[in-house]
Amino acid sequence: MTAWRLRSRFSRRSVASLVGAAVLAPLASGRLAASAAASLAPAERRSGQVLSVAATSGVVRQGRTVLAEIEAEGISAEAIGLRLGSAEHEPAWLPVFCVARADGGTRLLALAGVPVDAPLGVWRVSASALPFSEAAAGGGVVEVIDGGLALQRVVFAQELMSLLEPEVGEEERLTMLTVMAAGITGPQPRWHGAFRQPVVGRIVTSHGARRDYLNPAGQVVAQSQHGGVDLAAPLGVPIAAAATGVVAFAGRWSIRGNVVVVDHGADVHTVHAHASELLVAAGQEVGQGQALARVGTTGLSTGPHLHWEVRVHGIAVDPLEWTQREELGLL
Ligand SMILES: [Zn+2]
Repeated sequence: MTAWRLRSRFSRRSVASLVGAAVLAPLASGRLAASAAASLAPAERRSGQVLSVAATSGVVRQGRTVLAEIEAEGISAEAIGLRLGSAEHEPAWLPVFCVARADGGTRLLALAGVPVDAPLGVWRVSASALPFSEAAAGGGVVEVIDGGLALQRVVFAQELMSLLEPEVGEEERLTMLTVMAAGITGPQPRWHGAFRQPVVGRIVTSHGARRDYLNPAGQVVAQSQHGGVDLAAPLGVPIAAAATGVVAFAGRWSIRGNVVVVDHGADVHTVHAHASELLVAAGQEVGQGQALARVGTTGLSTGPHLHWEVRVHGIAVDPLEWTQREELGLL
């Protein structure tokens, strides 16, 4: 077979296909934006404005999550969009949501994923009231730094080689983004507090690891970057939901094998792959710690493990930061 490079450059095209097509275009140009505008009285629209926006950390590694806080007056979360991007690509507008503060007030927040192959350097974070425009935006910057990503060589048996064909990966990626774009839980986060690791186990592949795939003859036949973490666990161990949510998909895909996708609200999803057995069905509400499936080795896998992804607006981010960064619990 011909060599295959899965790893795409972080081009305008890849951003648009990953993010814009799945989630953001409807907010910026479709019914969502229109209905949000219509729900505001003209006077409110005139007086409502974004005062400022800032990421909670000024530095972010490739493959990690940006949490931004927006200050605004006279305007609701649905009528504000957030953008995160560099000079090298044109970002789409991301949704903003509202969470309660302990003192009775509210905070306007937005989440963005930085792809594992994102260009390094200064990225601009900006927010704008409807109609979204550069001129109206309040903004700040974050510095994207190297993710310190590992390199791994993986040998697959000959019978799994067909799963490395680019068409197979592309089809599954689009299927997954379509599932996520359905947004069955809406713009508000369903989780409260840090995510919980779905199985107890050693990390065998970290998020963003660069992978060379070798055939049994030792030739590199494909390359990719790993979206998510692989956790070693024995066959049959229950895979627990990291946080409250609704099952968006439970079924079989070519590469991920038996897979469960959970929608946690605010366009944050977890993906659990290679299961031996599924224990939930699409549409089912799940609580943190509830068993979703059992560890297996279905799909493109060399032995029992859990492949666990966290996706923010469709972009794979490091799942472990969701178990460790307190602010992502949105407390
Ligand atoms: Zn994996």
